[in-house]
Amino acid sequence: MAATMPALFVGHGNPLNALYTNSYTRGWEKIGRSLRRPSAILSISAHWYIPRCAVMANAAPRTIHDFGGFPQELYDVHYPAPGSPGLAERVKELLAPVSAELDESWGLDHGTWSVLKHLFPDASIPVVQLSIDERQPAPFHYALGKRLLPLRDEGVLLLGSGNLVHNLHSYAWGEGGGKPYEWAARFEERVRELLVAGDDPQLVSYEELGRDAMLSVPTPDHYLPLLYVLGARKEKDRITFPVEGVDGGSVSMLAVRMG
Ligand code: ZN
Repeated sequence: MAATMPALFVGHGNPLNALYTNSYTRGWEKIGRSLRRPSAILSISAHWYIPRCAVMANAAPRTIHDFGGFPQELYDVHYPAPGSPGLAERVKELLAPVSAELDESWGLDHGTWSVLKHLFPDASIPVVQLSIDERQPAPFHYALGKRLLPLRDEGVLLLGSGNLVHNLHSYAWGEGGGKPYEWAARFEERVRELLVAGDDPQLVSYEELGRDAMLSVPTPDHYLPLLYVLGARKEKDRITFPVEGVDGGSVSMLAVRMG
């Protein structure tokens, strides 16, 4: 029988983390070393935020460089992990009656590979991505996470990749650590408290958390991956925060591990 895998949310932040060695990437490496080898990885990345529910079904996904204006070295990074059409089918089956379309157009975007490059550097574990249907409200994404829970007992690592606080308008590019904005620090702290308290309804209704939430989550794409991981939480799961920090004042790098 496959080992039960944790569900993991990571704050991916700046795409250059794929090349860097810093406290975040060292944290990701450490998580990778602490895990039993998963049979496959299902990634829900902020960067596949589209008006439909789709599952990547390619046997050999390409590495997508979905950004502009970065050094050539970043475009030269490839993460040649295989896909898993079998897992894509399984995801489709679990999500029914929500209709998930098997998709051959996508590959691995930087929300996935910039982190996996550190978590599993040898790129030998099959990876599948599930899109985030931008037409749907937060409770829908949480409900999909619940439907994906059985995958954990099938040896699949559920990976949500986004950022709990993601305000690029306020982001200080190139200034690394710096001091977080007060609203960013407060919102991150509030989310941590709610996670520890198991207050899923409030985490799903994050928009009710006022001005701090509005500034921290100006668009839902980087927050929603957390709701998939939250939905896939088991009652007995221990919750830990293996990576911490706020990058450039307004991008939370907090990682959340369930189980
Ligand atoms: Zn991003």
